[in-house]
Amino acid sequence: MIAEGRAARPNDFTTAPVEQPKSHGPLANCPFCRGNEHQTPRELAQRTDDQDNWQVRVVPNKYPAVSLEPPVCESESSELHRGEVAAGTHEVIIDSPRHLRDWTELPVDSISEVLRVYADRLRHAYEHLNLPAALIFKNVGVQGGASLEHVHTQMMAFPFVPETLDQELQAAVDYKSRNMKCLYCEIIADELTHRRRLVHENDHYLAFCAYAGRQPYESWILPKKHAGSFTDFAEPAALAETLRAVIVRISGILPAPAYNLILHTAPMGDPRSDTFHWHWELIPRSTSLAGLEWGGGVFINSISPERAARTLLEINI
Ligand SMILES: [Zn+2]
Ligand SMILES: [Zn+2]
Ligand SMILES: [Zn+2]
Repeated sequence: MIAEGRAARPNDFTTAPVEQPKSHGPLANCPFCRGNEHQTPRELAQRTDDQDNWQVRVVPNKYPAVSLEPPVCESESSELHRGEVAAGTHEVIIDSPRHLRDWTELPVDSISEVLRVYADRLRHAYEHLNLPAALIFKNVGVQGGASLEHVHTQMMAFPFVPETLDQELQAAVDYKSRNMKCLYCEIIADELTHRRRLVHENDHYLAFCAYAGRQPYESWILPKKHAGSFTDFAEPAALAETLRAVIVRISGILPAPAYNLILHTAPMGDPRSDTFHWHWELIPRSTSLAGLEWGGGVFINSISPERAARTLLEINI
């Protein structure tokens, strides 16, 4: 629901708690800063520079929501309840050894490296752990659900397809069976034609405010060329530049914004995967979810996507 009148409400944008001013030097109590590697479990993978210093580091989540050796499921399974052990993997990708808040403080080259690591970790989960579906996401800021400020990303891989991804896969299949075309390719062509919601574009990627965004300035980032799985993604620098540009623009409107950045990518071995078109969803968390959202699954967005795009384009990057 787009309801622009709601923006006039006092206190519509709840401001996030003021975050500590930061230096870019290592913080003694931050487990993700260079020099504090002993505060995390041993790394699963890392990328190093010419001097052998790590630039991107992957560690197991110290408090995993899922694991490869899950505890025994104590709940009964019955007609009423279906219980399954939470098998899977939960990894943390530390995007930089420096104590930065988000990608607005990282150069495009560094973001490109991080994106390559995402593809590597997805392939690892699919091919070596035999987990067919994964989510890669960022929780930034307190309202975005972050517990640590240092720039990082999480990957969870599962033996099942998560609900939202499953719905998107099915919607893409249903659309294709009716129209013989990829739903997302059609959306891209439409957005590039009228350009009313376009926020950023280069030769390989585009970003636009979502037609029915759940939160003000919700933006989607897609490759122009059809591809189901992010493991095959091309032109890392162009994608890094696009993602960074959208976050910089949003940060120009909502200083130090809280947001979730989520990758939707086709599961391995799913017959629907070729029909899918991978994409990132960037959801600023400027308003809190309340009764209508929890109770009805109805999201009120107080800024139309067309107006949001116009506002974002006014920001200098
Ligand atoms: Zn840190
Ligand atoms: Zn497509
Ligand atoms: Zn999606």
